[in-house]
Amino acid sequence: MDILKFGIEHALYPYMEKRKGNQIRFFTKQLQESEKLPAEQLRATQEKKLKELLLHCADNVPAYQDLDKAQIEADPFAALQSIPALDKKTFREDPDAYVALNVPAASLIPNKSGGSTGSPVHFFMDRQQVEQYEAARWRGLSWYGITNGSRSVMVWGSSIELSPEARKAHDREDKWLKNREVMSAYELNEADGQKYIDYLNSYKPEYLYGYSTALTAFAKAIEKAGKEKLKIRLKAIVTTSETLFPWQAEYLNKVFDCPIGNEYGARDAGILAYSCPCGGMHITAENAILEVLDPKTLQPLPEGSDGILAITDLTNRVQPRLRYMVGDTGTLLPGKCSCGRTLPLMKAPEGREDALLVAEGGRLVHGNFANQIIRDYPQVSGFQLIQHTPDTATLKLAGDPAVIPADAIVSLISANLPGVSIQTEFVDAIAPAPSGKIRYSIREFDL
Ligand SMILES: [Zn+2]
Repeated sequence: MDILKFGIEHALYPYMEKRKGNQIRFFTKQLQESEKLPAEQLRATQEKKLKELLLHCADNVPAYQDLDKAQIEADPFAALQSIPALDKKTFREDPDAYVALNVPAASLIPNKSGGSTGSPVHFFMDRQQVEQYEAARWRGLSWYGITNGSRSVMVWGSSIELSPEARKAHDREDKWLKNREVMSAYELNEADGQKYIDYLNSYKPEYLYGYSTALTAFAKAIEKAGKEKLKIRLKAIVTTSETLFPWQAEYLNKVFDCPIGNEYGARDAGILAYSCPCGGMHITAENAILEVLDPKTLQPLPEGSDGILAITDLTNRVQPRLRYMVGDTGTLLPGKCSCGRTLPLMKAPEGREDALLVAEGGRLVHGNFANQIIRDYPQVSGFQLIQHTPDTATLKLAGDPAVIPADAIVSLISANLPGVSIQTEFVDAIAPAPSGKIRYSIREFDL
């Protein structure tokens, strides 16, 4: 029996709920109760939450002070449609205009995203919103039999911005309070398969969670060393932050012989969809309204059409962004999933992918580390790190060269990518790939 799991679920959570007012399990239960509601009831829930959000925006959010309250009262969905979609650039130009005036400064939690567009966005959240996001993740994980205390290994970017001491404290907290260990996606090596097998056999996680590229490299290392030596059976592998390509899902399933889940979220919009074991990508309709817009006219497109995703986060009271284009494209799908959940379906967004870059000694470094470094520099409006050969790379930086501390940025990047010489290039903007997406790390050679 996993004592830590028992402790987290029977002592830690009840303590956080009683003493700290934590509502994660309460919100999760609410979401679990609504996932099979008839479609009309789900829509009525959305309508009620949307009306509250829009009235709040009209009363308290300067950017939305001109909203028509009579229209909101009469038909919140129509009122939403009348608001122009918001792009990241517009939001970045005046983020304060979106901060609700009635929210006490003490409850603002600062956050930042680099995300798939390569442009850092700084924003605020509050605790209720963070807990709603967490609850949506736990609801999705629960579809695989995973609970709050389930032991996991997260293949993820380590917190490179923290000091070694702070990182240790962070790791301890992960281990004892979350029953989770982080395996750095910046230090993978395909030659280390035996080490990974021994580690999994002794740590015995219930699930793995992380970047699909990094998990696939991890699986490759294990397959090379002999997957039959794995003695554990995982409840699931859940990938996040990146596109999960069908070949990756098949490969992970082949190596680990377990269900493969896919989480779609955005740091600045929450957990937006989760795949169920039947393969349906279910939208978190209780927490967010997703629209797909025509790329040219920004008018809503019907189900089945590809377009730009616009998100209205129904849980955001602090700095609401209505019809916010997070930088992804997607498709809403008609029909029902065979699992019986009535939550609407979408096609998982594509084009979110980072390269695994190669450092000294063949160490694989997930490209997200550059995002983690550069999002601390608001002077940079976009970037791209391109590795040409195992020892050369170019860092493109968009923004005013006079104010960007390029040397400091390059030295941080070099520290995480030893053995690679990096040259800097200033550009006006980062050009998107043919897919329309901007990728912030690219490797131009095969592993
Ligand atoms: Zn389903």
